[in-house]
Amino acid sequence: MRLIRFLTDTSAAPLTGILHADGSAEPLDGDLFGTWQPSGRRARIAKLLAPLQPPVILAIGLNFREHAIETKQPIPEFPVLFMKSPWVTQNPGDPILIPTHLASTKVDYEAELVVILGKTCKNATRDNALDHVLGYTCGNDVTARDWQKSFGGNQWCRGKSFDTFAPLGPCIVTRDELPDPQNLSLRAVVNGELRQCSSTSDHIFSVIDLIVFLSGSTTLPAGTAIFTGTPSGAGFARTPPVYLAPGDVVTIAIDGIGELTNPVASEP
Ligand code: ZN
Repeated sequence: MRLIRFLTDTSAAPLTGILHADGSAEPLDGDLFGTWQPSGRRARIAKLLAPLQPPVILAIGLNFREHAIETKQPIPEFPVLFMKSPWVTQNPGDPILIPTHLASTKVDYEAELVVILGKTCKNATRDNALDHVLGYTCGNDVTARDWQKSFGGNQWCRGKSFDTFAPLGPCIVTRDELPDPQNLSLRAVVNGELRQCSSTSDHIFSVIDLIVFLSGSTTLPAGTAIFTGTPSGAGFARTPPVYLAPGDVVTIAIDGIGELTNPVASEP
């Protein structure tokens, strides 16, 4: 099942629904993170939104072996956890804004599989970790490298939490349709050029590892979004480095989920 959040021509508030093969949407009755059922009604999608507004975004640095080798960093013993502001999600099709007020000249893309938890989770076990997963979507962990590395006081949060820096979508594919999250190919394409191409089989820490680790002694609310790390080929790691510029178009694609495309513009 493909779950989306969208506006219709007449809806004032976002609706959550099932995306059908014919391109129409079926709104849900109830709460996606409580009890719900398909409404039986059909609706025309006027605008697709990020598939949810997560209460928290947890993100993992350095979770692909190839990326660790590329950046000459040791394979970590524990997942490298950081947080992105949940208020910086961006809709499919809407622009990634390069900061001009607190200016950056090194805005970069990161293709990532994003896990969406469907229910509250604490102290998950390896056996029940995936039971907490609602589904999976594509994410772009957009990062201002200058604010991540030089101006951020050695913390990553500043450089990863500017407005629009967490595009999500186009839909949440439910867990039953992707029973093995460790065999998904993912790509980043910038202006038609393939920049990242890998598979979640290269994850250092699997989705199960991450849920067990992140929920240890810690309550994760329903709707938590977990960015699971990016493979080699981000702009900063290229020779020479190449960063996003206004007019660029970035697509994050994951087989079995779809494509998340965003143009790039300057912060007005
Ligand atoms: Zn990342």
